[in-house]
Amino acid sequence: INSKLPQVGTTIFTVMSKLAADNKAINLSQGFPGFDCYPYLQDLVSEYLRKGFNQYAPMSGVEDLKNRLAEKTKILYDIQLNAEEEITVVSGATEALYAAVTAVVRNGDEVILLEPAYDSYAPAVVLNGGVPVYVSLNLPDFSVDWGKVKAAITDKTRLIMVNTPHNPCGYVWTQEDLNTLAELIKDREIYVVSDEVYEHITFDGKKHLSLMTHSLLRERTFVCCSFGKTFHITGWKLGYCLAPKDLTSEFRKIHQFLTFSSCTPMQYALAEYMTEPSRYIYLNEFYQKKRDLFCEGLKNTPFKFTPAQGSFFQLVSYGHLSEESDYELAVRLTKEIGVASIPVSVFYHDQKDHKMLRFCFAKDEEVLEQALGLLSRPL
Ligand code: PMP
Ligand code: GLN
Repeated sequence: INSKLPQVGTTIFTVMSKLAADNKAINLSQGFPGFDCYPYLQDLVSEYLRKGFNQYAPMSGVEDLKNRLAEKTKILYDIQLNAEEEITVVSGATEALYAAVTAVVRNGDEVILLEPAYDSYAPAVVLNGGVPVYVSLNLPDFSVDWGKVKAAITDKTRLIMVNTPHNPCGYVWTQEDLNTLAELIKDREIYVVSDEVYEHITFDGKKHLSLMTHSLLRERTFVCCSFGKTFHITGWKLGYCLAPKDLTSEFRKIHQFLTFSSCTPMQYALAEYMTEPSRYIYLNEFYQKKRDLFCEGLKNTPFKFTPAQGSFFQLVSYGHLSEESDYELAVRLTKEIGVASIPVSVFYHDQKDHKMLRFCFAKDEEVLEQALGLLSRPL
């Protein structure tokens, strides 16, 4: 078959999780919580399953859940969304990203991707006939190089995909980033897909600024989020997209033929669970403890690092220690030391190797301590 995605193989997350399992290594590679969601949420799901909420949900999501999401947006950003017209529940942020790209990208349109970039962005662009235009983030802090973004904009640019807090780098956008992006696109027909799946996970008092909080960006942006990260339920594959009415209307045309609707009993359970905002507002503090513990322990390892500003990932550098490629090192650490990570080069289209690894610290303290003990050996 003449592949539509000739460059794409099995994702690194699948590869490294399997390697970790095969070698009985601690899996700090693929990003998922190593602990369970709260029992009350599980009870709610069983309750709705037993009460017979087992047929198709409404195409755009269960009404109560959309209302809870509107409340959340009001509480967090002081923005009142219209739940019926501006919120769509989908099967994970991955679907939201794909549907948003499909809604606006036509054959030959250029889409700016900031690298390192999450692995699902470029395939979504290419499958829609779009052309990815790559702009590297600044090293060492992975801030946005706005000069480079400006230079990358042409008459064909239709979309820019952003991610804050950032996977894998942890960079969190500033008000200046939002203002500069708005200035660059204001006189052009350029849309924005903003991947905000780590919206509740920022550190050291740093605040997540949703692109929705900027009046001009709000008109142009599909904000894509995931219940998976917020409620420790990555396996439920539920997410949502927030966008103004005209964009949401196009987004839903895609969603209704991708999956039509998403899992019914889980949507009802989440709607009831979210009536108490403290159930998602505590996350910064919860993950700050884990990031602090992980970074404290990293000081006793040979790696160099700057603590992440957000997300549940920590990058480390090893270029001062070894010439090995990041992929080789990630494989060797999994097999020999027993800790799996993700090589950061996989997030670059040309596998640029900055000699960095990504560790996921969304794990129980004992697991993190055990991993840190293993990582403190010489490389
Ligand atoms: N975007 C980023 C930046 C991610 O890290 C992930 C992985 N959780 C996703 C999107 C996909 O989210 P979901 O599992 O809800 O599809
Ligand atoms: N988002 C997760 C990560 O970055 C992986 C999700 C997946 O396996 N597709 O590790």
